[in-house]
Amino acid sequence: MRVRNRPGAAELVAAHPEYIPNEPKKLKGHWQERFKNSNLIQIEIGTGKGQFIVGMAKAHPEINYIGIEMQLSVVSLALDKLIAEELPNLQLLHVDGSDLTDYFAENEVDQIYLNFSDPWPKKKHEKRRLTFKTFLAIDEEILKPNGEIHFKTDNQGLFEYSLSSFSKYGMVIEQVWLDLHQSDYQGNIMTEYEEKFSNKGQPIYRVEARFISKARD
Ligand code: SAM
Repeated sequence: MRVRNRPGAAELVAAHPEYIPNEPKKLKGHWQERFKNSNLIQIEIGTGKGQFIVGMAKAHPEINYIGIEMQLSVVSLALDKLIAEELPNLQLLHVDGSDLTDYFAENEVDQIYLNFSDPWPKKKHEKRRLTFKTFLAIDEEILKPNGEIHFKTDNQGLFEYSLSSFSKYGMVIEQVWLDLHQSDYQGNIMTEYEEKFSNKGQPIYRVEARFISKARD
């Protein structure tokens, strides 16, 4: 996601530590205390301008959400939405989510969303794809046993790669949608990219994949 540098983004983020914690590593293992309840915790990696995660938090007040976005100007736009909605069950993290074990303890997360992740189409960039095996190993560590990744994309190449990567890793592919918007799937919350690509007539792919064991070598 490319956005111009937003003047005042750093000041806005700094002014709202109640929504974007300024010492996020200190929250590792303490997210339930942060939310002041023991509800499920679901995270989105690469949350962009926040339409999906804000929509989810509004639709499911009984679930806690954390949106992770590494670009300052982009996360500040997600923060605008959170400030407007005043959602107690949503937090944002302005961090590079490459190693989420810095921010989450083992078993602390119930579900992970990846939406329209950067495709990194060149083979030499495979290791940067968020569905590459090293990221799956990190996801598995922070997820509860049998935790799931729910992944949406418009990119057929990345989708096929991800199905293969999940499968090779030993995950169970629970369900696959090859054209989400033409299916009977209920309760879909669109992301910014999803709106853009589906308006161009592109099909949206979706998969739910589950880890089956915490034991890895
Ligand atoms: N999910 C949004 C959507 O569907 O509209 C945004 C999609 S955009 C293509 C991908 C976003 O992921 C970008 O905003 C990028 O900055 C963010 N991103 C990529 N890698 C990331 C990482 N390791 N940690 C945090 N954010 C990341």
